[in-house]
Amino acid sequence: ARKMLMNSEKLSSVGQLAASVVHEIRNPLTSIKGFLQLLENDVKDKPEYFNIMTEEIEKIESITTELLYIAKPSPNQFKNENITNTISEVCLLMKSQARLYDIQIDFKSDKDHYINCDRSQIKQVFINLIKNAVEAMESEGTIRVHVYKDDSLTIDVIDEGVGVPDDLKLRLGEPFLSTKEKGTGLGLMVTKQILNNHHASLNVLDNKEKGSIFRVRFY
Ligand code: ADP
Ligand code: MG
Repeated sequence: ARKMLMNSEKLSSVGQLAASVVHEIRNPLTSIKGFLQLLENDVKDKPEYFNIMTEEIEKIESITTELLYIAKPSPNQFKNENITNTISEVCLLMKSQARLYDIQIDFKSDKDHYINCDRSQIKQVFINLIKNAVEAMESEGTIRVHVYKDDSLTIDVIDEGVGVPDDLKLRLGEPFLSTKEKGTGLGLMVTKQILNNHHASLNVLDNKEKGSIFRVRFY
């Protein structure tokens, strides 16, 4: 127990250092982004350079946002929440993004379920999972989000995407592990960390015909 305590102290000081480094990076980054936007008209003959720079800056921004979350998570606010409503709200939120790619989100729950959780953290989990589901699907299709109770409260996020190769399945949640050009490889790491915090598990299964199922279980 003593060793565990020391490890967690060590982790938190590294976390604090990381958080301040992230802040130090973000200020100059915001300034670079602002001045780059002002230059847009002056670089009309090289729009592709401008676009690459903007995209790369946005990538650094998303990495720092996610790193900040890992290094310095907001304090837990556990309350008894209607998780059916919470997840339904996330689906609504993601629907407009998914529609841009002709992807439908189909939400279903057997009844209202209540658990003790941090609502904004749980929202983040399902934003990450649904975002990955959208990104895994090349074209139109349906993402199914099902909330139900069997042995325990379970939420399935079912996509019709490219699927997760077996060797990758074992490595999901490793920092910076991404197969996407614009990926940060931090989404599932944050997701797993939040779920650990909630004594919940995350499993990846193959969808019958095509795609994957990300299954979250609360114990
Ligand atoms: P990112 O989305 O930034 O790449 P994540 O941590 O969210 O990082 O995901 C890590 C990797 O796991 C992805 O790059 C992808 O290869 C794989 N992955 C995650 N979700 C899915 C999914 N629903 N279908 C297929 N592959 C997935
Ligand atoms: Mg992701």
